[in-house]
Amino acid sequence: MSEKVRIPYETKEKDLKDMFLYPVAVEDQPRAAITLLGEMLKYKRSLKLYLDVCTHCGACVEQCHSYLGTKDPYNMPVARVDLVRSIYKKVFGPGPSFLRDWDGAKAISQETIDLWYTYFHQCNQCRRCAMFCPKGIDTAEVTIAIREILAHLGLVSRFHAGIVKNMNKTGNNMGTPHPAIMDGIEFLEEELKEETGLDIPIPMDQEGAEVLFNPSSSDLFNNTDGLMAVAKIFYKAGVSWTLSSQITETANFGLFFHEPTLREHSRRLVMAGKELGVKRLVAGECGHGWRTWRMFTQTLNGPLPFPVLHLFEEVLGYYRAGRIQFDKTKNPEVVTYHDPCNYARAGDLIQQPRELLAACVQNFKEMTPTAQYSFCCGGGSGILMDEAKDIRMALGQPKAECVRSTGAEILCAPCAICKAQLPDVMKHHKVDVKVKGLSDLLGRALIL
Ligand code: SF4
Ligand code: SF4
Repeated sequence: MSEKVRIPYETKEKDLKDMFLYPVAVEDQPRAAITLLGEMLKYKRSLKLYLDVCTHCGACVEQCHSYLGTKDPYNMPVARVDLVRSIYKKVFGPGPSFLRDWDGAKAISQETIDLWYTYFHQCNQCRRCAMFCPKGIDTAEVTIAIREILAHLGLVSRFHAGIVKNMNKTGNNMGTPHPAIMDGIEFLEEELKEETGLDIPIPMDQEGAEVLFNPSSSDLFNNTDGLMAVAKIFYKAGVSWTLSSQITETANFGLFFHEPTLREHSRRLVMAGKELGVKRLVAGECGHGWRTWRMFTQTLNGPLPFPVLHLFEEVLGYYRAGRIQFDKTKNPEVVTYHDPCNYARAGDLIQQPRELLAACVQNFKEMTPTAQYSFCCGGGSGILMDEAKDIRMALGQPKAECVRSTGAEILCAPCAICKAQLPDVMKHHKVDVKVKGLSDLLGRALIL
């Protein structure tokens, strides 16, 4: 696959304005992009460093699943960043202009903007290239910066704008209104009763609960086994918990293209916790969402009156304290583990899920490469839209081969985006494996 794939960005002007973004006329975009890049270089010192220090050694090239899966030269991490580096050298680089031109400097044009949009939406912001770069260049950070510039030109994908609109209106990315969520919860409580014979609640807006649990909204309707498992675990551990009607979404799409959106989503979460008077915020299975919780909640909206934990840290605490036990025989299949990029390379979650897997499955097989060297699923950075399906299947190819070589029957992938992307990738590349969250496996094996 090497044809140029561009995700549509014909976003309605009103939806852009709701994010305080204003479209720039096509002929003015190159000039405006230079102004925005210049402004950004003043406060993002890491961006300037990444543009300055690349030696073009090529160590990143074969480490990027986007390049490996598409063989498109612009998807090499170094070439992707060179799309910006060449412009940076022309306008902001040191020394005489003939030397800068000799060094690859190029004038910006409308084609540059087009290339930026195309190829910075084929980077999953997975950070794998940074693990191998001797200069520590993190292409994911460049992608985030350039998508922010594109947003300020009015070039936001319809999918991203739609998600933000849903979030603003309903507190979740799927745009599910509160009454529908309550109906869904009632249904899941009935399912729990049928399965266990017990009255296991999924509480909403319980003031003074110990934990505010914030799931991915897809867990309310698509990955319901995961949410029911969480309810069972809290019940068994004897911990009071609640969901919040203000926000039922761990994912935070602001990370992918727009810092004010990132900040606002995070603020909404913190406010929900404060209003309910909880002791802890606990995040559900979502890779990039967890990255925003771990890295930005305190810095953007702190100081916080409570700690912010991931579900796996919370559950591991119960397990180590002997408050919950598991019966491994309930998960007899060969299980392998996919490290979501934002857990392993940006969220300090490598050992905890493995300790929980060791407690709840009988046959665990580690994948190669693994942990912080694991390949991305190909769906990260918010490109999980139908229009990008062909490119996503290509981006997922290296991961499919890793999974195939384990011979596993179950692929544990505890992230909402991975859980949506990987079943299609496995089917497309003919790998016979079922994809499940870690919560699902914990729920199956929990001794009630
Ligand atoms: S590994 Fe780092 S220094 Fe080498 S080409 Fe890639 S980005 Fe540049
Ligand atoms: S962050 Fe991931 S997808 Fe992006 S260039 Fe690096 S390895 Fe490739």
